Amino acid sequence: MSYKISGKFFVILLILFGAASNGLSQNNNSTTGKDNPVKKDTVIWNVVKFKNYTINYTDSDAGNFMTLKSYLDRGIDSVENFFGSPYPDVFSVFVYPNRASLDQHWQRDWGVPGFKSQCWMVASGVAERLDILSPSVWLSQACEHDPGNKKETQDLITHELVHVYHGQNNPHPNFADMDDIGWFVEGLAVFVSGQLNKERIDRAKNVLHKGEDPKELKSLWGSKNKYGFSGLMVKYIFLKYGKQKLISLLPQTTEKGILSALNITASKLLKDWRGWILRNG
Ligand SMILES: [Zn+2]
Repeated sequence: MSYKISGKFFVILLILFGAASNGLSQNNNSTTGKDNPVKKDTVIWNVVKFKNYTINYTDSDAGNFMTLKSYLDRGIDSVENFFGSPYPDVFSVFVYPNRASLDQHWQRDWGVPGFKSQCWMVASGVAERLDILSPSVWLSQACEHDPGNKKETQDLITHELVHVYHGQNNPHPNFADMDDIGWFVEGLAVFVSGQLNKERIDRAKNVLHKGEDPKELKSLWGSKNKYGFSGLMVKYIFLKYGKQKLISLLPQTTEKGILSALNITASKLLKDWRGWILRNG
């Protein structure tokens, strides 16, 4: 899921994870964030560093730590296996204890004082960090997710980890000014994470069968079936052009760049994509 603020492209996903014991050492640190135009982050963080990433969490999430780490490690493995290379850089994971603290971070990070997130927005991923709302407040402060669905939870976390990897392999680490290829950013995360499930594919097919297909590439992600449409477009590119070509698109920042790399026009790509989907069901 994404939305647009101040001309920047942001990626939001809902995340939930279960409880587990915490057996690792912790350091108490407070952080005020790197650039702080709105107001200071008052959250007191416990910080645990691993080889490739750091988890920042509050005392209220000590019991969720190992479960979260498992989700992260499995997601990182999936992403690196798919792309065939490790994350180029280290990154940070922040588990916010409540929506107010997450909003405060997003307000500061996105430069939108007073921003209030919607209930389905519980996580974001860019090159240097993955921010998520704590599962311990999910039932009371979030919506639209099944807290007991481990596969969905894994896929959601993997989705954000694809964004982190993508951001680390793109000249725009925060996907700023890439709204026109939101379909590629999100479609890649949907496809690689395993979120392109039968339900989403069937919904997209039904819309195409009705002749209500997107007329522009950029409307793939803006449509009601954005997960299905965007994920299916990336899957189509994967199948038609191969994994290496898909991976070679990671640094692209414009629709023109992607089309040039694929040596195709937008209208032809959409037409071929539509035909492929309808032929397959
Ligand atoms: Zn996303």
